[in-house]
Amino acid sequence: MNLTESQIQSIVTSVMTTIQVQQSKNGCHGVFDDMNVAIEEAKKSQKIIARMSMDQREKIISKIREKIKENAETLARMGVEETGMGNVGDKILKHVLVAEKTPGTEDIKTLAWSGDRGLTLVEMGPFGVIGAITPCTNPSETVLCNTMGMVAGGNTVVFNPHPQAVKTSQFAINICNEASLECGGPDNIAVTVAKPTLDSSAIMMKHKDIPLLVATGGPGVVTAVLSSGKRGIGAGAGNPPAFVDETADIRKAAKDIVNGCTFDNNLPCIAEKEVVAVSSICDELMKYMVEENGCYVASKDVQDKLIATVMNEKGVLNRKCVGRDAKTLLKMVGVDAPEGTRCIIFEGPKEHKLISTELMMPILGVVRVKDFEEGVATSVWLEHGNRHSAHIHSKNVDRITEYARALDTAILVKNGPSYAALGFGGEGFPTFTIASRTGEGLTSAATFTKRRRCTMSDSLCIR
Ligand code: NAD
Repeated sequence: MNLTESQIQSIVTSVMTTIQVQQSKNGCHGVFDDMNVAIEEAKKSQKIIARMSMDQREKIISKIREKIKENAETLARMGVEETGMGNVGDKILKHVLVAEKTPGTEDIKTLAWSGDRGLTLVEMGPFGVIGAITPCTNPSETVLCNTMGMVAGGNTVVFNPHPQAVKTSQFAINICNEASLECGGPDNIAVTVAKPTLDSSAIMMKHKDIPLLVATGGPGVVTAVLSSGKRGIGAGAGNPPAFVDETADIRKAAKDIVNGCTFDNNLPCIAEKEVVAVSSICDELMKYMVEENGCYVASKDVQDKLIATVMNEKGVLNRKCVGRDAKTLLKMVGVDAPEGTRCIIFEGPKEHKLISTELMMPILGVVRVKDFEEGVATSVWLEHGNRHSAHIHSKNVDRITEYARALDTAILVKNGPSYAALGFGGEGFPTFTIASRTGEGLTSAATFTKRRRCTMSDSLCIR
C-alpha cells in the first residue's frame, strides 16, 4: 500500500506526540535548565506554528481554554500558596475569564484595498519567538493569556517569570504545551527556565532570535525592556484613582469602588487604589462604604502603624503585605477587625503615603476635594503620569469627557467597578498585559503581530 505524503506526516506527528507525552511524565513541558536551549526549542516549534493553518492554531487555543477551566482551582490555589498574594475565589474567576474571553485567531485580520491598479493586502504576520517577562501578581493568568494571543498570531514564547511565582508559571506553561501536543501541535510553544533570574532575563533580552519583548510589571522591568534596543511592549505600573462627583449614584459608587478595590485583594494593576470625592458627597460615600460594604475606618494611629508596616522609609513595599486581605493587614498592626471586613479606608491628603503609593492592598484613602475641577487635578496628580487606568462615578457626560481627556489613560471605567474594563461585568476582552507606557493598550493576538503589505499590480481586482 502506498501512503500519501500527508498520511506519512500524520503518522510521524502521532508517534512524536506519544513520545513527547511520555517524556512529560517526569516533569513540566517547556522547562529547560538553560535559557539559550529554551529559546532554541521555542524557535523550532515556532517554525511549525507559523506554517499551521489558522484552524489548527485555533484548535490548540481551544484546548488551552479547556485545560484552564479544568485546572482553574489548582492554578488559583498554587498562585496564592506560592506568592502568598490574592485569594483563591477571585483567582478562579480570573482564570475562567482568561479561558472564556481571551481573543484567539479571530483577532488576526487582513486589510485589503482593491481597485483599478490591482489588489493590496495588509496581513498580520508573526514576529517569531517573543520574550515575555511576567509579574508575581497575576502569574499564571498572564502566562496563559500571553501564550494564547502570541500563538494565535503564529509566534511561540519564552517566559522569564517572577522568581516568586516560578512553580505556578511553569504549571501554566506545561498546560499550554500539553494542549498543543494533544492537538497534534509541537511541544514548547511556551518555554521557560527552571530558575529564572535577572541573568536569564538578560540572555533573553539580548538573544538574536528574540525580535520582540513584552514586559508586564513595575517601572524597572519596563525601562529595562525599552532600553534593550529591541521592539518592546511595556505594560507597567498604575495608581488608578476613582473619582466620585456630586451627580453620581453615591450608594452604587461605594459598592462598585469597594468591589473593584478588593477583587483579588487589590492585585490587578487596574484596581481602584484611592478615592477622590467631592466634599458635598464625601461623608455619604464613606458612610455607604462602611455600613454596606465592609470597610473599616483606620484612625490616625492605625494609619501610621500601617505605613510603618507596609513599606520601608524609602517607600519600598513590604512584599509580605502586597495582595493580603484587609483583616490580615489590620492584624499585622494589632487590630482585630470584625468578620466581614473587606477594605481599610480613611480620609487624608493626596500626599499621604498610603494614598500616593501603588500599594496593591485593600487600603483606600479618600481625598476630599471642593469641586469637580479640583477633583480632576487631584486625580491627574495621583495617577503620576502612568497613563494606565482611572475611574469615574458621575452622571454628567461633559464632566466624564473632561476627566477622560485630562487623565489620558489606557483604561477608563465610568460608573462601574474597575474589572468591568477586563470584560468582567463589562463589554470587551480581557488581558493581564495592559501596555499603557508604549501605547498598545489592552494587548491581544493582533498586538503580537507585525503588519506586512502584499501587492498585486494591475490584477486580481474583479469588481
Ligand atoms: P516587578 O516589577 O517586581 O516584577 C515584574 C517582572 O519583572 C518579574 O518577572 C521580575 O523578575 C522582572 N524584573 C523586575 N526588574 C527587572 C529588571 N530590571 N530586569 C529584568 N526583569 C526585571 O512587579 P510585580 O511585583 O511582579 O508586579 C506588580 C507591578 O506590576 C505593579 O507595579 C503593577 O502595576 C504592574 N503590573 C502591570 C500590569 C499591566 O498590565 N500594566 C499587569 C500586572 C502588573
